[in-house]
Amino acid sequence: MAEKSSSKLWLIPLIIGICIAIGGIVMIICGALTYVPSMGEEGWFDAETTHNFLIFIGIFILLFGIMFGGGVSYAIYSSKPEVRAKRMKMLEERKQIFTEMLSRFGVSTPKQQEKKSRKVCSYCDTEVDDNEKICPSCGAKKFIKK
Ligand SMILES: [Zn+2]
Repeated sequence: MAEKSSSKLWLIPLIIGICIAIGGIVMIICGALTYVPSMGEEGWFDAETTHNFLIFIGIFILLFGIMFGGGVSYAIYSSKPEVRAKRMKMLEERKQIFTEMLSRFGVSTPKQQEKKSRKVCSYCDTEVDDNEKICPSCGAKKFIKK
């Protein structure tokens, strides 16, 4: 029972966010419906200010609601272990597909290069290029493959 309620926890900020966003929409509508007398008439400036204020704050609240609801609920949702495991698996699969695609185009990823045997100087352990005859660091001619 407790597990079930925690798995739905991400819905709470989403609902709060939607409520905030709806509040913002209501403010925008109120602002849009505010009667503004034509310019220069009495009360024009106050009405215009209210009108702009309501729309501006309304948009701000709407965006805040969307960001809060979306962001917080996504953060909670994605922190769930099963969701995280699923995403890790998906990421791993995508990486594999990407690696396969790259190797098909003849590009070897660093990981594959690492698998190749490395030529290392037997004296100073410096990694040496395969076609190098002497160690660039100590001048030795003896190498070991690792
Ligand atoms: Zn060396």
